[in-house]
Parts: sequence; structure tokens; C-alpha cells
Amino acid sequence: MKIPKSFKQFGQTITVEYSPEVLYNEDVTGWAKYRQNKIVLQSPTNSTPITEEMLEQNFCHELMHFILYGAGEDCFNPPLHKREYLVDRMAGLLHQFLTTTEHGNSYLDYLRKVEKVSEYADKSTLHFGGK
Ligand SMILES: [Zn+2]
Repeated sequence: MKIPKSFKQFGQTITVEYSPEVLYNEDVTGWAKYRQNKIVLQSPTNSTPITEEMLEQNFCHELMHFILYGAGEDCFNPPLHKREYLVDRMAGLLHQFLTTTEHGNSYLDYLRKVEKVSEYADKSTLHFGGK
């Protein structure tokens, strides 16, 4: 999994930064700084070795905070983005999906195959992509 340098949420750029200070300040491994449009992740140091998987998981955790914050719900107390257990479970599921997904042929490959087959079929019954 590649951790992005930035991504967009509602047209705003959220940047991803690293700091060796995160863990020491609050005993956490990342921050979701909503008002600064920033995710800050604990960077690996000699005294705090962090594996690539841990870093990915930490990113997914902070991303999930941003997603739930962006969802903007206000009928739950506490709000969903402040529910650490929920955020962490969803982040774990997202991380597992992103790191274990296997890709076969693309949808485009499928369409090309269908198009090839359709050369021998009645083209009026198969119509894709506005052709
Ligand atoms: Zn959290």
C-alpha cells in the first residue's frame, strides 16, 4: 500500500506529513488535524521503530477520522469521528482490503472480450460505452 502525500476531501487538499514528535507528545501514533487539513504520522526513529505495516495502519486510522469527520453527522453523541474503537476497526478493515486485494482482468479487458464476442453476435443486443 502506498501512503499518499496528499488527497482531496470536499475539494480541499489534505496533506500527509511525518514527525518524530507525535508519539512523545500524546502517546499516539498519528494526528488528524481537521482545521489544518493535515494528517501527521509518527515517523520511525531509532527509539521508536515502526514497520511499514504499522505506518500504513496508522495512516488508515487517521484517514478514517477524516472520512467520518467529513461525513459531518451530528446526531450521534459522541460524533462518529471521535469514537476511537469504531475508527480503529474501520481503519483495520480498510487496511486489510487495500493490502490484500487481488486484481484480475480489468473491466476494460472484459469489455474488449465482449466486443470480440459480439463481432459474431447480433450487435444490436450488446451495446457498451455509447458506441
Ligand atoms: Zn484515533
